[in-house]
Order: sequence, then C-alpha cells, then structure tokens
Amino acid sequence: MSRMQYGSDYKNIPTYSTESGNVTEVLPDLCTYTNKIVNLHMVGHPDAQDFVLVDAGLTNSAEAIIKVVEDRFGEGARPGAIVLTHGHFDHVGSIIELIEHWDVPVYAHKLELPYLTGRTPYPDPDPTVEGGMMAKMSSIYPKEPVDLAENVHPLPADGTVPYLPEFEWIHTPGHSDGHVSFYRASDGTLIVGDAFVTVQQDSLYKTMVQKKEIHGPPVYFTNDWEAAKASVEKLASIEPETAVFGHGKALKGEELREGLNTLAENFDEVAKPSHGRYIDDEK
Ligand SMILES: [Zn+2]
Ligand SMILES: [Zn+2]
Repeated sequence: MSRMQYGSDYKNIPTYSTESGNVTEVLPDLCTYTNKIVNLHMVGHPDAQDFVLVDAGLTNSAEAIIKVVEDRFGEGARPGAIVLTHGHFDHVGSIIELIEHWDVPVYAHKLELPYLTGRTPYPDPDPTVEGGMMAKMSSIYPKEPVDLAENVHPLPADGTVPYLPEFEWIHTPGHSDGHVSFYRASDGTLIVGDAFVTVQQDSLYKTMVQKKEIHGPPVYFTNDWEAAKASVEKLASIEPETAVFGHGKALKGEELREGLNTLAENFDEVAKPSHGRYIDDEK
C-alpha cells in the first residue's frame, strides 16, 4: 500500500461551535454526527449488514468518529465504504486514520480525484469576500490536497453509489469541481454536502449558535458561482423531503422545499457575494 498523506498545510484550526459531539438520528437509517463545525453521516440501519460513512470530519477526529460508529452499529463495526461529497479539509480531516483502521475503499466524483490524490491544491480560499470573521480566518484554512493514493476510486459512472443500492449520486459542482450530493428517490432523502447549507458559516455568531436557515454554499471556498447556482436549482427541482448537510441542521418537508426554492430563485442576491476574488474573475 502506498503511503497516504494529508495536505502539507493541514493543522488544527480554531473552531467555533456550541454543538460539539452531537449525534442526531434524522431517519431510522440516517444518522448525523456533528464533528465541531462539520457533519458526517452514517447511512444504513443499525441492524443491517452494510452501512456507509459520508465524509470524514476534521483533523484528529478519527477516534471520536470510530466511537460514534461503534455506538450505533456495534463494537468492531466497519462501513462498506466512505463516500465523499467533496475533498475540502473539513470533510477529509481524519480519513487516513479511518482507512487504515477499517481498511475501506473511498469513493468520490472523478473530477474531485486530483484533490484527493495529492495532485492539485484547491483554489485559495477567498478572504476578501464579505462575511466577517469566518471569511477572514479562511486564509489559514488548509487547501493542499490529501493523498489517498490507490484507496480512492471514482463513483460509478452509472450514478449508483457503492453499498447504498437505493441512492444515486448527483453532480452538484460550484463549491468544488467534483462536488456531489446523494439522493434516494423512494422517500426523497437528500445528502446535500456543501452545495447549500443551513448554517451561515461566514457569520461567527450564526456558526456559534448553529441557527437553522438555508444559505448558499460556504462563500470562501466556492469558486464557480454560476455552477453553484445551477446545482442549487437542480436540487430544488427534485423537491426533497429530508435533507442533511455538511454544515448545519437537517431540514424536512415544506420548510426544506420552501427554503430551497427561495434560495434557488434569489441565489444571486442572497448567496453570491457581491465582490471577491472569484466574482471579479468571472468578468
Ligand atoms: Zn466544502
Ligand atoms: Zn464543508
């Protein structure tokens, strides 16, 4: 096995959240673990054979993640796979320890693979966008790619998701090139990732209280706002019943669909920053 390594700039970053360590069962077979500022999702019934972990949390969180998984699925339980919505540092922070502990494959969109195999750094986070402390702090956020070597594989081209037969993946780029969401049509369950979120990450206050509201993708990493808008429109059009996110609380029913439609219809005004590196670049 070739050596895996995190990006050279990975480090503990200061986090501000009052909800560290929370586990929320959103559906009988969908459970969210809030790892300080980011969510991971366990998909699968606690007594089923197979389950999947969606995303892999912050740096130095593997022990906590393994404990949460074993609390739910039993001692020694291991997922069939880890699937990634995308490869930003806050979604892959503990993935190497998890791969080594469980010996599991990782799947991500093929356009995200350069960022997961040590080849391409993410574009610089944009600290010039408005949005207060969190955006200003973003210049210290890691952007160098993790290298998962041969442990990461492209999601199947036919839209299926390994170990999750009822789900399909939907390409929702904009926040990152290979960003995906996962959808189960039978009950309208949507695992959004960071295509839109329910906590306004660029506001320190709202991140601290994890206020529930629909917002566009975290501004400081999003580098293609037209694609991000199209992705929100795509997700609004499927009219999901339940949604979980990379950041913020789950939403259901009318509150979800209305909020998502409002975001899609007003995306340029409410989600897209009025200035910033990736706004000026478009012109
Ligand atoms: Zn992200
Ligand atoms: Zn994120």
